[in-house]
Amino acid sequence: MLHPSTHSSTAVNQSPAASTLPSYLQADNLGPWGNYLQQVDRVVPYLGHLAQWAETLRRPKRILIVDVPIHMDDGSIRHFEGYRVQHNTSRGPGKGGVRFHQDVTLSEVMALSAWMSIKNAAVNVPYGGAKGGIRVDPKTLSMGELERMTRRYTSEIGIIIGPTKDIPAPDVNTNEQIMAWMMDTYSMNEGATATGVVTGKPIHLGGSLGRKDATGRGVFTVGVEAAHHIGLEIKGARIAVQGFGNVGGVAGRLFSEAGALVVAVQDHGGTIYKASGLDVPALLKHVAEMGSVAGFAQAEVLPNDQFWDVDCEILIPAALETQITAANAGRIKARMVIEGANGPTTPAADDILQERNILVLPDVIANAGGVTVSYFEWVQDFSSFFWDEDEINARLIKIMKTAFAGIWQVAQEHQVSLRTATFIVGCKRILHARELRGLYP
Ligand code: NAD
Repeated sequence: MLHPSTHSSTAVNQSPAASTLPSYLQADNLGPWGNYLQQVDRVVPYLGHLAQWAETLRRPKRILIVDVPIHMDDGSIRHFEGYRVQHNTSRGPGKGGVRFHQDVTLSEVMALSAWMSIKNAAVNVPYGGAKGGIRVDPKTLSMGELERMTRRYTSEIGIIIGPTKDIPAPDVNTNEQIMAWMMDTYSMNEGATATGVVTGKPIHLGGSLGRKDATGRGVFTVGVEAAHHIGLEIKGARIAVQGFGNVGGVAGRLFSEAGALVVAVQDHGGTIYKASGLDVPALLKHVAEMGSVAGFAQAEVLPNDQFWDVDCEILIPAALETQITAANAGRIKARMVIEGANGPTTPAADDILQERNILVLPDVIANAGGVTVSYFEWVQDFSSFFWDEDEINARLIKIMKTAFAGIWQVAQEHQVSLRTATFIVGCKRILHARELRGLYP
């Protein structure tokens, strides 16, 4: 933040005193929710009169914690902890993915739900923000156990989700099969098939063409736009990607098709490197068969920590949050970081990257392609009329480019980072809606 605010109110600009937020919302342990609160603090000075509503951004509208008991294959009963958080619904129904991961926490789900609010507003799709998750390593479950857990979780959160209330989607370790089970469970409970209750479904169940590639395509689209602004040639640019799943795999493929060299990839199984560029189609095939980049023959293996030292022009974190920290931000060689993942950079690391003149394309715009095509899927489900893939990709690219151009302009105008600029655009839209709706009763 280079130029502090010029507007007058002091009371509304301050961080909330610890006592004003309920204990579970406080940033004292500085998990992902703490990072989000710091990001909100940075944007408040730019909100003008809307700052009087800013406290709305610091408090999720609704938090649901559910117990998810299931019969395991061996006859025992196991309980999992699940969450669904609706951060804000001022602009429309809640919208955001469901994550199955052993490290899922309430702080993480709250932060992810809040970033969805900002993201949906930044690309101007008519949604609020929500997120869900279960603390589980799904790789330890059989297919039957996974299905039973998904269905019980869906029943438990069924009281707050719905096509006009809150619409889940895939996230880390969830996929279109899990969305199909969620849609079926919700529909059985409702007594009517409700395709619009989730997005990221299989095509045969009202899914949208282009959804699988949408987030990676959005990452690629804003990456190319930003590269033009800083005079970076994509052809020949060296790229390092962390996470080679739905987001990182597609982004890596599109950049390599555009002539860039994907030189390093890290996933949960390890880190691989090839200075002349990895064979991306062969690597994608290897990951599809083996579940990880580990063991890919045509590359050298790097110790995981050396990933951050790799010589590259573009770094794409596309795995989990809190990966770029004050401990490694000083080592990053890239000219540009494109956040495919949600929340991969801590606020302290953000400052280091900004000081080092490394451009960060923040998650809240860079990975918004997925929710944009989820929005198209939801619209198609409501109208029961489906578009072809060219139309979907063209509409996606137009929305991403328009949103990015607006954010770039705001960043120039206020001399702020792209993250703060995206928060300015997103938060203003959310709070404007809040103000127009007023408080009820
Ligand atoms: P995915 O499950 O398809 O892939 C996750 C990848 O991260 C895998 O390659 C996995 O091996 C890797 N990974 C996991 N733990 C790791 C670790 N400790 N170190 C390095 N790599 C690790 O998930 P995805 O859908 O690609 O999501 C990735 C990120 O993108 C998440 O932050 C998610 O919230 C975000 N995101 C996803 C979408 C979407 O449409 N799928 C949309 C927006 C944002």
